[in-house]
Amino acid sequence: MEDCLFCKIIDKQINSEIIYEDDICVAFKDINPKSRVHLLIVPRKHIPKVSDMEEGDEKMMGHLIKVAKELAEKNECKGYQLLFNVGKEVGQIIFHVHLHLMGR
Ligand code: AMP
Ligand code: ZN
Repeated sequence: MEDCLFCKIIDKQINSEIIYEDDICVAFKDINPKSRVHLLIVPRKHIPKVSDMEEGDEKMMGHLIKVAKELAEKNECKGYQLLFNVGKEVGQIIFHVHLHLMGR
């Protein structure tokens, strides 16, 4: 998807601190961290919002949660929040699905 910041990060056209990647997703540090650990777990597939999910995407979306759990453990988070913003009304600013992992 042209003009999508996160597609460009996934394609490495734009630099970011990628800390994990596999066939399904990429995880990198949030540029404006709200917590000691603040990572974004992003599917390679461009979907603007969770509400645009299609039949067959559920395994991919579940994978994001599994990766978040593993990254939380790797970063020694005692507790953490997992968040999808869905819609500009609640503050979504990047329209490529991403799971926030915010941990302490
Ligand atoms: P959201 O409000 O859920 O759309 O969150 C988008 C997140 O992306 C925010 O927490 C931003 O700080 C983060 N962000 C924006 N640009 C970049 C970037 N170039 N690299 C890493 N994180 C970014
Ligand atoms: Zn995208």
